[in-house]
Amino acid sequence: MSQVEDGTVAAIERVNWTEITPQALYNKLQSLASNLWWSWHPEVVSLFRDLDPVRWRQLDHNPIALLAEMSPELVAERAGEMVMYTRINQAHRRLKDYMADVHQTWGGIHAGVLGSKPVAYFSAEFGIHESVPIYSGGLGVLSGDHIKSASGLGVPLVAIGLFYDQGYFKQHLNGEGYQQEEYLDTKVDNLPMEAATGPDGKPISVTIDTRDGTLLAKVWLMHVGRVKLYLLDCDVEGNSPQDRELTSRLYGGDRRTRIRQELVLGVGGVKALRALGITPGCYHLNEGHSAFAPLEVIRERMEGDGLSFDDALRDVAQHTVFTTHTPVPAGHDRFDAALVEEHLGPLRDHLGISHEQLMGLGRVEPQNEHETFCMTVIGLKLSRRANAVSSLHGHVSRRMWAHLWPWRVEEEIPIGHITNGVHIPSWIAQPMQQLFERHLGQGWRLRLEEPEVWNKVYTIEPGELWETHHALKSRLLEFVRRRLSRQCRRRNEDETAVEAARSALDPSALTIGFARRFATYKRADLFLRKLDEIAELINDPERPVQFIFSGKAHPADEGGKSFIKKIAQLRRDPRFAGRVVFVEDYDINVGRHLTQGVDVWLNNPRRPLEASGTSGMKVILNGGLNCSILDGWWAEAYNGRNGFAIGNGTQHVDDNITDERDAENLYNVLAYEVVPTFYDRDADGLPSKWINMMIESIATLAERFSSHRMVVDYVRHCYVPAAGGLSSDMP
Ligand SMILES: *Cc1c(COP(=O)(O)O)cnc(C)c1O
Repeated sequence: MSQVEDGTVAAIERVNWTEITPQALYNKLQSLASNLWWSWHPEVVSLFRDLDPVRWRQLDHNPIALLAEMSPELVAERAGEMVMYTRINQAHRRLKDYMADVHQTWGGIHAGVLGSKPVAYFSAEFGIHESVPIYSGGLGVLSGDHIKSASGLGVPLVAIGLFYDQGYFKQHLNGEGYQQEEYLDTKVDNLPMEAATGPDGKPISVTIDTRDGTLLAKVWLMHVGRVKLYLLDCDVEGNSPQDRELTSRLYGGDRRTRIRQELVLGVGGVKALRALGITPGCYHLNEGHSAFAPLEVIRERMEGDGLSFDDALRDVAQHTVFTTHTPVPAGHDRFDAALVEEHLGPLRDHLGISHEQLMGLGRVEPQNEHETFCMTVIGLKLSRRANAVSSLHGHVSRRMWAHLWPWRVEEEIPIGHITNGVHIPSWIAQPMQQLFERHLGQGWRLRLEEPEVWNKVYTIEPGELWETHHALKSRLLEFVRRRLSRQCRRRNEDETAVEAARSALDPSALTIGFARRFATYKRADLFLRKLDEIAELINDPERPVQFIFSGKAHPADEGGKSFIKKIAQLRRDPRFAGRVVFVEDYDINVGRHLTQGVDVWLNNPRRPLEASGTSGMKVILNGGLNCSILDGWWAEAYNGRNGFAIGNGTQHVDDNITDERDAENLYNVLAYEVVPTFYDRDADGLPSKWINMMIESIATLAERFSSHRMVVDYVRHCYVPAAGGLSSDMP
């Protein structure tokens, strides 16, 4: 660089220094940090990371916590060193433009009827980013992706959830591989939340009467792009010490805690909307946890408009959409009559119905006194539109609930399906985004719902795709090694163990990832049934294979915990040491690294118990291939060329036989399809057949299994008709 150019650069920087005071710069960063929009914009994420990469990691990628540790002067100094002024200004302007853009969006055109009457989307958990720990797993991540896409599409939608100040647990394994749970208090000041205020500008709160006293909740507001997420929190003065902890933990406590949480979410959520001055055109109940909500809306309609209970119910159901996620009968929330009466008694008085009538709404057979109150049943009865989350799950759900409509044949059971999807900008790695930018055209990120964009995937140059994938894989292995050595240090293991962890895994070996909740039906232990054969695959000197596992078991699930222990203990077996590893504390961060870097994503649930599954969809975007049982989403995604199928989509009536057969099928597909295809290299050293499968997978699946497509489906088939617009039927 010449003297003159040098001087020019310095001059530009001097101008920036004087134009923007440290405080102004700091304020801009704070306003970026206060809307979770930043979390799906890698260029904004890197702004925060660049301020202090080490603290950024240590603080769970929380920009508010990071800024709180830095003075405006220090931030300005770091930003000056990094020449970040322009980037900060640009990001800030982009957020402002985005927030102002509402009327030029897809939603502005296609969801106009919702403009003054938005969708109210209820969910017990929201997984938006690892720094906001109010989710436990798939359901939460789905809700997070749903509202991010609603924001991106400009669909008028507000979201309602609970604020858990201890969230879900942190997982560590002890020396034996047994799961330990640790609950940490989240610092409210470090979260992008503020007190929600009503039309008068005052913070709102809600009260809910039970037979046993009144429950209070305050309401937080979180900005997720254009979507406002309201979170109810029972940790308020006026509640008993026990009730102040009611919303501390996700899915913690006994049945009574559970029904009280669900009362706060459903009934409290509707009251919060009322206090906020919001009149929804459509209520979307994401899973049964919030299914008390329509009862409170019925009360509003009866008291506001003088309707009878039956008329109000019909009217409210017309505006209500219910999504079921659970294909196992035992997985549905149920409460006994005493708990229902204690918590819904006062509301029932307002509705003018008897205890038996109320119980009947939660029963398949209303008169059957032996039947408990089921949240899915009331959800189905109080909604005019109901859906499952994949095509196969639709069939399973219609069969499971057929006896609610005994006069109908199974095909006419009114439960359709809208298959889940993932939020592409949140799950695609930046290098892959850049590759897409080059081949799919500028602005592809804003046209995610257009299939034409995705046809251009076939023009991607194979070598370029492979290189990009490889860079991501290296990044994953680095991440895993860092985590493994940290795990060893935490367990006070010796330096040899730490050293071994640092050199675990081989960057050129076929890398298979498996990360999910360790619910037993997901069968993380399936490969253990063929352990010796798998050991041979792993140790093949020419064509080695390695596995990365991660996932939490529910604290009460000893079966799931024993799977974790068995897998973690494999590191003691020389055949598996450094080749089968377990990464602790699966969360959105771990999930992002794994789905962005693996060659193959393994999914082997016991069919048909996986309603949809979404982690495999994240893999597609990053060039990984799915190898899965034909269950959930994969049953409708697999075309014979875009990944691998384990088995042929059948199951035996005897689970043991099914498991044995699937273990055999798993081994066969790995040994005879996955491994040979991966290691079949052409003259340039590229696995051309494999790369073609990567391209086929992106081209045929990325758009179909995106949450933009999913939200568009909900708008067309559910939200708009529910709000009184033109009707179109669900598949
Ligand atoms: C995507 C995701 C899930 C959902 O994965 P499944 O395929 O449904 O098992 C769960 N947890 C986290 C952290 C995720 O990112």
